[in-house]
Amino acid sequence: MDMMTMNLTEFKKAQQAINTVLIPIGMIEAHGPHCALGTDVLIPREFVRRLEGKVGDKVLMAPEITYGHSWGLASFEGTIDVSADAFLNYVLEICKGFAVNGFANIILLNGHGGNNASLDIVTEKLADLSVRTLTVNWFIDYRDDIQTIAPDPGHAGEDETSLVLAINENYAYTEGVGSHEIPLPKRFRFKDGGRTLYPEAFSGNAGAATSKKGEQLYEMLTELIVGDIERLWEIEQSQGGRENGIAMDS
Ligand SMILES: [Zn+2]
Repeated sequence: MDMMTMNLTEFKKAQQAINTVLIPIGMIEAHGPHCALGTDVLIPREFVRRLEGKVGDKVLMAPEITYGHSWGLASFEGTIDVSADAFLNYVLEICKGFAVNGFANIILLNGHGGNNASLDIVTEKLADLSVRTLTVNWFIDYRDDIQTIAPDPGHAGEDETSLVLAINENYAYTEGVGSHEIPLPKRFRFKDGGRTLYPEAFSGNAGAATSKKGEQLYEMLTELIVGDIERLWEIEQSQGGRENGIAMDS
């Protein structure tokens, strides 16, 4: 169910029928010299398109949140960074809006690692308000599975670049891009450290990316996401079944 194109009559019907919403969350950010700046929006958007055919009758697909937080790559051209505090509160307000509209299950389909810490806090706050959430950080949660197809993943690495190529061959290139390893663990942090960790705004072996690997990744990852959505519904059942969101002033 695509919220963006729904009218109010259709939305009210959806509210009666379902209580799960999926919100894609992305970023506009430097992705090496070779990958679209909107990579972290394009990939979740493609997941949504594929999920629509599998769970679309039970999940409201919400419009995406396009801009996120990127401390690490903020100094690169093309990165439009929103502070962690502003981003966190913005996402929280949006989620509360869905909760008061009856959506007690919220899936945050995140395309960007810099958002993770903020989303952790958002989901803790939502859980305290009795809103169930599933956060999908696909590049972390399914990394072992990803490496069976793309052995050297990373930021605009083999996995992300392949996923972008599978959407449109014109949205990325691989010729002469090569690979980059992150030279330091991310737990070392210092001013403009992103320039040290990601000298060319990417990591992993982007040169090995192909659209074919991207298609294989989409097929595998979409199934893994469906499995996690079903686990969210199992948790709901174990807690006594369907609820109708929260009354925010109670
Ligand atoms: Zn990315």
